[in-house]
Amino acid sequence: MILLTFAALAVLVLYLRQWLIPQPDHLPIHRRFPKLEVGVCLLVAGLSYLPSWQADRAADRAGKAASKVVGEKVEFVCGSQLNTFFDRGTDMAWGYVKWTEEGPAKSSKLRHETCKGLREFFDDPTQWRSISNDRLFAVHIITHETMHMAGEMNEAVTECQAVQRDALMAQALGASAVQARDMALAYYIEIYPNLRQDYYSDECKQGGKLDENLPTSPWNLRRLRPA
Ligand SMILES: [Zn+2]
Repeated sequence: MILLTFAALAVLVLYLRQWLIPQPDHLPIHRRFPKLEVGVCLLVAGLSYLPSWQADRAADRAGKAASKVVGEKVEFVCGSQLNTFFDRGTDMAWGYVKWTEEGPAKSSKLRHETCKGLREFFDDPTQWRSISNDRLFAVHIITHETMHMAGEMNEAVTECQAVQRDALMAQALGASAVQARDMALAYYIEIYPNLRQDYYSDECKQGGKLDENLPTSPWNLRRLRPA
């Protein structure tokens, strides 16, 4: 879509150039301002830029929520649809944090689909359980990448830190306390056990080596669940 924005702006420049620069066979008095053409170009440019603008707003909002949860400034950047195919530097991951010798970057790149789920979640946090679980995944990916940015590199440890903060993050992103709890439990009970081996740990449970015993650890949330 961003290519369409550039194309519309390029055509706009051509129209304006034609209007501003006298053509050999036109007297200046006959040159009319190309209102319709300029209007159409601006409309196409605006509409095609809208998804990118919405994605940037969603990324900003996620960055503010994540910074609150982790206690330091972290940021997110949404990739475009084109990035999904060409941005090989991010391993085609749903979310990606670059590591250097100094540690993790404090900015994470999110895949287009992750940002789409995030935008949908912001539109209506009550509908977090969409058919494809896009919104639930998006919220969890924000938590997971935040834990990387906070300094954890190991995927299984990061994932366990994330499941213990999903409820916190969901609430910071706009869910009610009950929705946030249900989301965290849904992820831990239904999705976590089916993760790839390098993302899963048998120790991510009550009393396990990775149990941080947070009020928002899923096993503690479960205790609060109404019978
Ligand atoms: Zn990871």
